[in-house]
Amino acid sequence: MSDPLEDLYREIILDHYHSPRGSRKIENPDVTNEGKNPSCGDEIELSLKLNDHKIDDISVACKGCAISVASGSLLAEAIKGKSISEVKKISAIVKAMLKGEDIPPDAELGDIEVLKSVNKFPVRVKCALLSWTTLIDCLDSLENRSGAAVSSTE
Ligand code: ZN
Repeated sequence: MSDPLEDLYREIILDHYHSPRGSRKIENPDVTNEGKNPSCGDEIELSLKLNDHKIDDISVACKGCAISVASGSLLAEAIKGKSISEVKKISAIVKAMLKGEDIPPDAELGDIEVLKSVNKFPVRVKCALLSWTTLIDCLDSLENRSGAAVSSTE
């Protein structure tokens, strides 16, 4: 019954669950958003610090099941140092992947590809999506803010 790829995916998810990346709090983040997944009880707080339109630092504090924590950790690892437009692209791909939709064949996903295995468990999809939808909320609030006050240094 055991599929080697499934085993590998499970191993990566458990590794991220046991030692989540990006769990260190960052000081003076540019944006922070919270997300909740009531169906499982997962809670997340995600903060971003930007520098020159790139993700300079990220903090993901997630309390919840293994999938939600691992997904947040994979997210932190995947987007650090990336530009905002790259992050938007990655988030859209992950969302599609979790919903079982087609993704570009040339998409370079690295470890976040393990989240693909989650779409086989519909009740877990929301757990895996939580950090990514919270990330998208963060980017949206940044965008709204920069539209309103471009020159603000606060
Ligand atoms: Zn969950």
